Amino acid sequence: MHSDSPENPTTLAPDPAPLIIKIKDLRFSYPGKMQSAVLDIPEWHIARGERVFLKGPSGSGKSTLLNLLAGILVANKGSIEILGQNLGALSARKRDRFRAAHIGIVFQQFNLIHYLSILDNIRLAAHFGNKGKTGLELTAKQLFEALGLDKALITKKASNLSVGQQQRVAIARALINAPEILIVDEPTSALDSDTRDTFMKVLLQISQTQGNTLIFVSHDTALTSHFHHVVNLAEINLAGGSKYVC
Ligand code: ADP
Ligand code: MG
Repeated sequence: MHSDSPENPTTLAPDPAPLIIKIKDLRFSYPGKMQSAVLDIPEWHIARGERVFLKGPSGSGKSTLLNLLAGILVANKGSIEILGQNLGALSARKRDRFRAAHIGIVFQQFNLIHYLSILDNIRLAAHFGNKGKTGLELTAKQLFEALGLDKALITKKASNLSVGQQQRVAIARALINAPEILIVDEPTSALDSDTRDTFMKVLLQISQTQGNTLIFVSHDTALTSHFHHVVNLAEINLAGGSKYVC
């Protein structure tokens, strides 16, 4: 009997994970620079639960792509579908809500609000994510513990924290709503190698527990072993490729 015959269904290959991100014929230029597209991506997919390491030289469009995936920027042409929702079909307000509910982002500069306490920075993200207040402080404290941050920091102003601490807070803020997708843009560039390794360990551990799909941009190719896929932006992007040396 053939091993994958209907009589023996247990040997069938499992279904591949469903796609959580689908890009089709995406084109993007910044306003005033319509003649030179930063991104021209015919097709790109990411499956649920995948950990993708995105690399490419400085200026090649990595942050632009992350901002498009997060709905902060909007494509000039083509579509970006996240969790079955075409971002281009949403108003700016609905895109903001969609992002807050489904996507956690750690920006290169962390973007904490400096005059607010750490807890208020995290509360704000939870509020926009519509997850309510129940258990928020407890979840924040659990994330702090997992990230190796002193819980006493929670009442401090963001401006009083070191770069390493701010970065972990930015991760806690991105994860407070247990987002389906976690986007992280060059998070280790300001860290020494010991802090970087600890940071990666906790980030990957928490992200795995939450089951996030992870898109991680970095120059640090020593980190690629933590990822399922390593994608060079030039492989998927037809725009501007010849300008850069990879
Ligand atoms: P990377 O993250 O790979 O370093 P970016 O996405 O930041 O690259 O930038 C891609 C290109 O878009 C660069 O040529 C950059 O100068 C340009 N660019 C980035 N942000 C803006 C902006 N806000 N307005 C106009 N051009 C921009
Ligand atoms: Mg960038």
